[in-house]
Amino acid sequence: MGIVIQKFGGSSVADTKKLNLVCKHIIKNVDEGNKVIVVVSAQGKTTDILIKEEEEITNNPNKREHDVLISVGEQITIAKLAILLNELGYKAKSYTGWQIPILTDNIYGNANILDINTDKILEDLNNNFIVIVAGFQGINEFNEITTLGRGGSDTTAVALAAYTNADKLIIYTDVDGVFETDPNIDPNAKKIEKISYDQMIEMANNGAKVLHNKCVEMAQKYNVPIIVKSTFEKGTGTIVN
Ligand code: ADP
Ligand code: ASP
Ligand code: MG
Repeated sequence: MGIVIQKFGGSSVADTKKLNLVCKHIIKNVDEGNKVIVVVSAQGKTTDILIKEEEEITNNPNKREHDVLISVGEQITIAKLAILLNELGYKAKSYTGWQIPILTDNIYGNANILDINTDKILEDLNNNFIVIVAGFQGINEFNEITTLGRGGSDTTAVALAAYTNADKLIIYTDVDGVFETDPNIDPNAKKIEKISYDQMIEMANNGAKVLHNKCVEMAQKYNVPIIVKSTFEKGTGTIVN
């Protein structure tokens, strides 16, 4: 019993069937008596498509407008997931970054989280809501929307774990944890059961996009262990600590 944070990436929330599977993982934790915060990414390739569509207009967009555009995918996912959980009989409430608010610095496209106001989240959890937060986005001191860098929903999840003092953080993805090399390129890649923050930062910096590099740095700073596992297969996953 306690606060559990579950983060689901783009491939885990790609369509309605997958959202139903995501709900099963969430409901299991709720039914066990936990308070659950969910962080989600945009569905499937939504962010890539938005960027491609932007490139049809210009290769040099205004930075503020770029972040307004590429942050929208996550808002679709949080709303759909809340509506689906409601349909399944569970109280759920969705939040964009600015509604929380998740305060960031002013680096559009690669912003860093500076602070999270947890008041609404904790109040909702106490009122037995599942709280669903849009990953990858925040708001700066000028009330402008910012994004955290590609893959940044992982960082939202770690930051929420740190600021709510969560008992458990699970990052669900499309593979059963961290492997020695990308398992989608090398099917014989060996899974790593346990990895240190330092080793994970090195892997992430070398391109292992399974975890956003900034998310691991933040996890180390706040001493938040990360469990990485698959949405789709049963497995023990990897613990990063
Ligand atoms: P999500 O949408 O869940 O955030 P990502 O696509 O960002 O997922 O990251 C998961 C992908 O990371 C896997 O599908 C895999 O191809 C890739 N990957 C690269 N290197 C590794 C690694 N060392 N271990 C696990 N996955 C890796
Ligand atoms: N949707 C964003 C991206 O594609 C953030 C994320 O997936 O974590 O980069
Ligand atoms: Mg990712």
